[in-house]
Parts: sequence; structure tokens; C-alpha cells
Amino acid sequence: MFRPYENAQIGLATKHAKKTAIAPIFKSILGAEVIDLDVDTDILGAFSGEVPRIGSALETVKRKCEMGIEKGFFDFCLASEGSFGPHPDYPFIPCDQEILYFIDNLKKIHVWATIFSNKTNYNFKKTTSFPELLEFSKKVKFPTHALIIRPNIWENKNHIFKGVQTEEGLKYSLEVSMKRSKDGAAWVETDMRAHMNPSRMSVIQEVARKLANQLNTPCPQCNSPGWGIKRVERGLKCSYCSFETDWVKSEIYGCVFCSCEFKQLRSDGIMSVDPSMCKMCNP
Ligand SMILES: [Zn+2]
Ligand SMILES: [Zn+2]
Repeated sequence: MFRPYENAQIGLATKHAKKTAIAPIFKSILGAEVIDLDVDTDILGAFSGEVPRIGSALETVKRKCEMGIEKGFFDFCLASEGSFGPHPDYPFIPCDQEILYFIDNLKKIHVWATIFSNKTNYNFKKTTSFPELLEFSKKVKFPTHALIIRPNIWENKNHIFKGVQTEEGLKYSLEVSMKRSKDGAAWVETDMRAHMNPSRMSVIQEVARKLANQLNTPCPQCNSPGWGIKRVERGLKCSYCSFETDWVKSEIYGCVFCSCEFKQLRSDGIMSVDPSMCKMCNP
């Protein structure tokens, strides 16, 4: 069995206790040990409340991971990045995009995995009423999932309550935030930090599993770890009119070290698009 990172120590350049989600999975799939690495990644920006383009999220997480390597304690590093907002293909569905990035500084390879998940409680609201706030809190899995409350219009960025998990805490932070806001309203949003959000933790576990399995897959040509889907080709045809839709037609597997690539049809076996999903047949 190919286990290139058996007994390896991998630094995790990230805050917010994500190790709890990632370490057990890396232990069981790779036999590797994940160790917290103290890197000040806040300078790269915290959650902005919107999903950045895949490019910018990917750049951020890559930079975090490189900062981990630059510390010099580990030959292998991991970093994770999440962003939240409308799903890129379905704007009415809130979505959690998680990226997990890995650098092997001995082999000089970068491997990353990403997941778009609708298993998120991501939400926000402007409010001036405690009953309304309570109703909102029920929709977003409070109190197992914490909330953030702040003045709706705010100047002092220290005036923010994070990780609120009790009803008394909600009431108090609502009153204080309303008093401090120029328009008398408070802003409430779901706390998306991993340790405050079990839904997010499970999406991070999912992406950890995906990356770990990829690290255990060798390139058929050069045997480098990290063989997996590199990109997709769109244009799957409608089964009725043969129009080329935006649906994924084939998946291109490739190596992160050499130039070896294979094109494969969709792994789920779907060969054509139903006319109900076709822009020509069902505009
Ligand atoms: Zn059609
Ligand atoms: Zn290769």
C-alpha cells in the first residue's frame, strides 16, 4: 500500500482549533501526525463575509502554507481556508467553500483539495428586537453554533461580541450593540470560526479526507504522491437536442510533479444532461 507520509510530522499553519477536525483523519488515512504551528495568518485577512473567487482564496491559503514552511520546523505543512456566501452556481443556497493546502518541501510539491458544501448555517441579519433575534438564532442552530453580534453601524472595531452561546449573552450583546450603533440597530451573524461551528468542522473533515486520499495516490508515471483531479472539461450534451451545457463532461486527472495527465469521463457515470436542465429545451 502506498503510504508516503507514514509517521511524517505535518505542521498546521492555522488558528481556530482546526486540528481537532484534521488530525484524526490524517492519522487514520496517512499514518501522519498533524501538529499545530503558530503562524500569524491574520495579516492575510479574516473572514469578509463573502465568497472570494477561487483564485484569491487559493492564493491566501497557499501563502499561509508557505509561511508555515518558512518557519523552518517542518518539511511538510498544511493550511486551511474557508469562505462563505451564496453558492457560485445556485445563488439562493448558502455555501461553505473549504480549501486545504499541503506543501511537501522535500519533494517540492503542492497538493490541495477543495469542497463546496451546502451543509452550512451561514446567515446574518440586522435587528432591533430580542424576539426577532431569538427566532433567527433558532434557524442557525444556536446554541451549538455560536453567534457574533455588533453595532450595525460601528466605528470602534473592538465593539464586537464573538462566540455568543447563551440566551443571556444574546440579550446583553444585543442591548449593548444597539446602544453603540448610530442607527440603534444591531448586526448579528453566524460565528464561522471552526471551533464555534460544528457544521463547518464537518466540512473541514470532508476536505481533509479528500486531500489525505489524494496524498495516498501515486502518479502512474513518476510515483509522486498527490495524483488527482486537476481540472474539469465542461460541455456535457443535452440528451434531447445535443446542446453543449455547462455541465462537466470529463475530469482530467494529473500529477502535481510531472506532466502526466489522463482524461476520464465523469466518475458518477452521467453521460448526458436531462432536457429539463438544458437552456435550449427548458429556457
Ligand atoms: Zn436540450
Ligand atoms: Zn508524475
